[in-house]
Amino acid sequence: MFGGSDFKPKSIFFHTTIMGSQNQGDRMQIDLNVPCDVEALRADREVQGRFIAESLQKVEGEMKYAGEWTCFACGKQAHELVHHPMSWLQAQPGFVMDYVHMVCSREEPKCAGVIEESNKELTTEMGMEPGAAGGESGDIPQEAPGAVAQEPKAEGKEKEVEKGNDSQHPSSAPPAGGCAVCHKQGKTLQCSRCKTIRYCSPECQKTDYSRHKGVCRWVDNVERSFASEKKEEGENKTGGEDWPAGIPRPFDPPAPAEHDHSNC
Ligand SMILES: [Zn+2]
Ligand SMILES: [Zn+2]
Ligand SMILES: [Zn+2]
Repeated sequence: MFGGSDFKPKSIFFHTTIMGSQNQGDRMQIDLNVPCDVEALRADREVQGRFIAESLQKVEGEMKYAGEWTCFACGKQAHELVHHPMSWLQAQPGFVMDYVHMVCSREEPKCAGVIEESNKELTTEMGMEPGAAGGESGDIPQEAPGAVAQEPKAEGKEKEVEKGNDSQHPSSAPPAGGCAVCHKQGKTLQCSRCKTIRYCSPECQKTDYSRHKGVCRWVDNVERSFASEKKEEGENKTGGEDWPAGIPRPFDPPAPAEHDHSNC
């Protein structure tokens, strides 16, 4: 149908902010250019909502396994993401903003409450910003905890590494950080192109390659600010020497983004 060479896919800009531990101020921004038919999205709110939800779901692994995330509210190991997308698709150019809170478990009422409050504050702030365009909620479905499209199950091993699971309402989703495929914690290898998703080994990277390569191209810009990575700066944080030749090395943290250090 789109055989013609004049078919030019357009895209919508997604500006996402992922928030780990409130105390440590762990933050990451991932900007995406998601290809789509912009006019069709503008014309239909339902299609728009679905497109935003599906797009964010496709990069759930890229967000979740980009760093050693801890719960925004309680600081324990994070297992799930809570999205809060807002869209301005009528603007020129249209864009989507998404605040993503990392949480130990969505079932943990205290943490869920803290995150809800934070979302409210952020929404209030955002209501002012893009002026006349106004915000429209993206209505991402929240009922799919940790939903990464086809997130493979760990093969029975490495299950015991989970920590921060002494909660009354532990999450059944695998922990954030670690390997995106087998969920092994510890040293990881980061996609050298998009600088988001991480794997324990070239094997796991290969397993995920056909899925990841599609969304890898969406990634436009990444900025990260992790308290733990700052402390280790200067040490061998490139983590590279023992990786086999020809395999992309983990990402070297860039100059720290602007960040309030009063809580660090
Ligand atoms: Zn928590
Ligand atoms: Zn792995
Ligand atoms: Zn990538």
